[in-house]
Amino acid sequence: MPWLESDPLVLPQEIVSDRSMAENLTGNWRSLKPAIGASRCTGCLICWKYCPEACVELTDKVPRIDFHYCKGCGICVQECPAHCIALEPEEAA
Ligand code: SF4
Ligand code: SF4
Repeated sequence: MPWLESDPLVLPQEIVSDRSMAENLTGNWRSLKPAIGASRCTGCLICWKYCPEACVELTDKVPRIDFHYCKGCGICVQECPAHCIALEPEEAA
């Protein structure tokens, strides 16, 4: 991976990935996963906008989360204005 040019005395150095996002699968380490309460979802797509993994997919109204890429970070839970997303234990979701 290429290193960004920077002052070697300034840490941390940044690494620019040259791999595709398609390779950024979550694997089996995630312990929590978001669940959308469809009945309260307004379809505002704020969760789509804020998800750092770009794994919220647009649908007719209620978004769909691609759990191959979701990291369970909970940002969508915090940002949902309808408070209709909850983090659930991996086994229960
Ligand atoms: S942010 Fe919440 S209300 Fe808006 S689309 Fe996502 S789940 Fe639905
Ligand atoms: S938990 Fe994080 S990675 Fe998963 S859908 Fe929500 S914002 Fe995206």
